Amino acid sequence: MIEMGNAAAAKDISQAVVSVHAMDVELAWEQIKSLLQKEFGPAACKSWITPIVPQRFERGVLELGVSTRFIRDWVRTHYADRIRHLWAQNFGTVVRVEIVVSAAKKEDETVVSLLPANANEQPCESLPITDGLSSPLDLRFTFDNFVVGKPNELAHAAARRVADSDTVAFNPLFLYGGVGLGKTHLMHAIAWAIRSRAPQRKVLYMSAEKFMYQFVRAIRGKDTMSFKEQFRSVDVLMIDDIQFICGKESTQEEFFHTFNALIDQNKQIVISADKSPSDLDGLEERLRSRLGWGLVADLHPTTYELRLGILEQKRDMLKRAIPQNVLEFLAHKITSNVRELEGALNRIVAHSELIGRPVTIEGVQDLLQDLLRANDRRVSVDDIQRKVAEHYNIRISDMHSPRRSRQIARPRQIAMYLSKALTEHSLPEIGRKFGGRDHTTIMHGVRRIEELVISDRSIQEDVELLRRAIGG
Ligand code: ADP
Ligand code: MG
Repeated sequence: MIEMGNAAAAKDISQAVVSVHAMDVELAWEQIKSLLQKEFGPAACKSWITPIVPQRFERGVLELGVSTRFIRDWVRTHYADRIRHLWAQNFGTVVRVEIVVSAAKKEDETVVSLLPANANEQPCESLPITDGLSSPLDLRFTFDNFVVGKPNELAHAAARRVADSDTVAFNPLFLYGGVGLGKTHLMHAIAWAIRSRAPQRKVLYMSAEKFMYQFVRAIRGKDTMSFKEQFRSVDVLMIDDIQFICGKESTQEEFFHTFNALIDQNKQIVISADKSPSDLDGLEERLRSRLGWGLVADLHPTTYELRLGILEQKRDMLKRAIPQNVLEFLAHKITSNVRELEGALNRIVAHSELIGRPVTIEGVQDLLQDLLRANDRRVSVDDIQRKVAEHYNIRISDMHSPRRSRQIARPRQIAMYLSKALTEHSLPEIGRKFGGRDHTTIMHGVRRIEELVISDRSIQEDVELLRRAIGG
């Protein structure tokens, strides 16, 4: 195990690992482990990282063993993503990380019984008031740590209102927005705030995925009665990432009943999703309409100012000397979401400590090559519309207009097709950017061009040309 602070040793290992062709997994893991420890602190490391035993690395799959299912689930949800990132970054290989339960090592046995509710050293702490049913809350996700800007001010104000009032303000509060824009952060912040202001109130926070898991387990154990009771006795119910239960009928059914029972008792409900209720596919109509009854607040993509604000706050929290121009550079370059922005900052901090050199823009450019490139490459629907309109010599406004003449409709469909192919937006999102068109219209357009690309030579050439011009 690398001693923390022993930068030279860590560096040796790093060089050794990179030069070993058939990668020595254990050696590589030592390095990742030390980076994780820097990032998450010794307490989290002791509980969750140290017990991990690397098993093998084959064909891009990194298999890590832990001793219990509990640790497996925890590591999966809290660290797997980060491990994957660090691995790819340090060893240049794309990986999938698989956490499996393997035979426990002897020295790890003390860890087996560790649960977040009874250990003081946890990175996160669970709300004890609901018999451990509630998911753990991240200590960092408080209102104090949430930077407010134009894109999130409505969502923030609504969350504050829910946290601060004893009566039900709007029910449900429905927060939605893309990945990494702060939905989970706001929900945890509500839970923390209520917990400190009114500890007698029962708050239950969990992901929709866990809701489903609990529900399925209750059915299997023929214990749905107590499942229902547990949920229906809370004062505030928060379900994160509700899009997860889209298309899962019986879970939706159960959720719908829980939801209604709580609303009838005038209990507060907070829901998050990646889309607005009307854009969520695979949701039963009656549930969809009820979800939109309260206040629907969206978190918009971040602005430069917000990104810079978040980075400044994070730097102050980390108490690290990171020059302002580096923060500005990051805020300018990493526009995707806050999670990536934070990840970048963490990488910079970890790296500068490991290497022991001050942070500079050049160093950062070098270190974050992959991330910066990915952000550069990201094209927007606006770019696509602009390029396509230029190419066909039509107006950009025609992309949004209802006009249906062929000279306009065809290029518009090409732009829809390219938007689907080159961006990560969903069909409803793309529809909105094309003058509020329905997602079925977008799907139709995409299909039409898919056919034409095969049957019509000139369309095929146009599409290829545009694709190259757009740079996707
Ligand atoms: P989501 O649930 O919307 O995918 P998260 O709430 O998990 O996103 O946020 C991703 C990361 O970005 C978290 O670490 C969170 O603390 C941080 N973050 C997002 N928005 C803000 C903000 N406005 N201020 C501070 N941190 C933020
Ligand atoms: Mg989330």
